[in-house]
Amino acid sequence: MTQERLQLLFPPEQIAQRIRELGELISTDYSGRQVAVVGVLKCCFVFLADLIRGLDLDVTIDFVQIESYGALREPTGPCTLVKELGIDITGRDVLVIEDIVDTGATLAHLLSELRARSPESIRVCALLNKQARRRVAVAVDYVGFEVDDVFVVGCGLDFSERYRALPGIYALLPDEPA
Ligand code: 5GP
Repeated sequence: MTQERLQLLFPPEQIAQRIRELGELISTDYSGRQVAVVGVLKCCFVFLADLIRGLDLDVTIDFVQIESYGALREPTGPCTLVKELGIDITGRDVLVIEDIVDTGATLAHLLSELRARSPESIRVCALLNKQARRRVAVAVDYVGFEVDDVFVVGCGLDFSERYRALPGIYALLPDEPA
């Protein structure tokens, strides 16, 4: 039996500060425009809630859910949209909110689904980016923090549904067997 250990990467104050900065940047970039914010469930909910409250913009919010990972740490195969978008994004400026972009497969799949609906523009804001793990080329326009090739939890991110409520972001390290 192994236990996981948590190693703090980003404390809550640092996350809050970075989210404020992202909010200001996005508000400047989209100044005067209405934005359709699309969150990718489930992990995005903490980040999205904090980010949108710092946006000085007229926004609408909806969510999609894509199945790509189970309890495993690697992609399990092709992505499936398990919760559809409930709004029409034709001709709209869309801002996708992701928790983390890892291989890029999930985001690439989502972007092709969204582009098929003819939005005016699509940009992506991710709390975390694992550039070193990228396998599919995707552009992430706004990044909270870069992380190395470690599995992270907290601030909405889970491991087998645990750790989402942690206010900081942690690397999940396997312990040596007892
Ligand atoms: P990708 O398709 O880019 O490989 O993976 C995207 C999804 O995998 C993320 O939205 C997230 O749900 C999950 N994922 C990737 N890396 C991590 C990680 O380090 N921690 C957690 N909790 N989920 C991850």
